[in-house]
Amino acid sequence: ALMITDECINCDVCEPECPNDAIYMGIEIYEINPNKCTECVGHFDAPQCRQVCPVDCIPLHPDHVESREQLLVKYQKLIAPK
Ligand code: SF4
Ligand code: SF4
Repeated sequence: ALMITDECINCDVCEPECPNDAIYMGIEIYEINPNKCTECVGHFDAPQCRQVCPVDCIPLHPDHVESREQLLVKYQKLIAPK
């Protein structure tokens, strides 16, 4: 999963781009729910939030390093009917 650092300027452009609705407004800045972020695996070739962020403040979350296979499993769970 990716994360948003405190360099975020709350420009609002990433939130609507996330195919998993993983991005939300936190107390001060936008945040990413690591349980919903597949790094866009399953939807796009590249992380959409990172592509639009004007200040490049969306690195890999050091506590949530996942393989492509793990990200694909997460994606499949997210799209599975509840
Ligand atoms: Fe959403 Fe993709 Fe960004 Fe993860 S990498 S927060 S899934 S847009
Ligand atoms: Fe923050 Fe970047 Fe998202 Fe803008 S695109 S709200 S600067 S994380």
